[in-house]
Amino acid sequence: MTTSNNRIPLIAGNWKMNTTPEEGHALATAILDGISAKDVGFSASRCDIGFYPPATSLAFIAGLCAEFEGCKVYVGAQNMHAEESGAFTGELSSAMVLACGSDSVLLGHSERRHIFNETDTEIGAKMKTAVEAGLTAVLCVGEKIEERDAGNTMEVVNRQLEAGIEGLTEAAQLEKVIVAYEPVWAIGTGRTATPEQAQEVHGAIREQLGAAFEKRGAEVGAREDIRILYGGSVKPDNASELLSQTDIDGALVGGASLDAASFLGICEGCG
Ligand code: PEP
Repeated sequence: MTTSNNRIPLIAGNWKMNTTPEEGHALATAILDGISAKDVGFSASRCDIGFYPPATSLAFIAGLCAEFEGCKVYVGAQNMHAEESGAFTGELSSAMVLACGSDSVLLGHSERRHIFNETDTEIGAKMKTAVEAGLTAVLCVGEKIEERDAGNTMEVVNRQLEAGIEGLTEAAQLEKVIVAYEPVWAIGTGRTATPEQAQEVHGAIREQLGAAFEKRGAEVGAREDIRILYGGSVKPDNASELLSQTDIDGALVGGASLDAASFLGICEGCG
């Protein structure tokens, strides 16, 4: 299915610090097999999928997915550094991510922001490097529970979005961005935003993207082509309702992406 705006939904799995290369290979194989198998009733045009494995598995998983024809598969890193090379022990550069056969990167995930203290400015610099390198950058934004309770959700999300795309000065660069709205209080907690809560924020993000396109000399309507994913305890039993919202164009999935049946069940929620 496509949305009313012809945005193909994307169901992306963030495996976090889980899976050895062998375990990741088995997981990805089971998912790709599920998509290929006619008996799950999966339509290839229903959605794109994405795998964001640990860096140690990136090349292995990208190789596995390279020849897959059942649907578009993004394979990406969970983070990268803004600099191209240098004395940054433990970090990955955009060139390394690309050399793994990967075409994407997650940036600004709440665990990077709140456990590893990444700032809006650092995430903006990474976004610029990633997009300039040709990667599809998934910019994660989302408020903490105290920020929502204080009525500051949109202020936080707008600030994170603005800082994340600030360095992308051309409309064509913005087109390489996927936004993931992930309320921090819903990540890994089993507590999901209601479809209405999520839609409200997604709609506001799309408005802001329209203004960003205009500022870069493009038509405001270009915002309709940008995918905005929802993330936060998405499961097969809540996916369909979330994904039916006008501005929800897929899901970024943590826990449930580690089980092939659950991941496929979420894909089925695309229609
Ligand atoms: C995530 O980590 O991006 C996420 C959404 O996790 P979970 O699905 O487990 O809430």
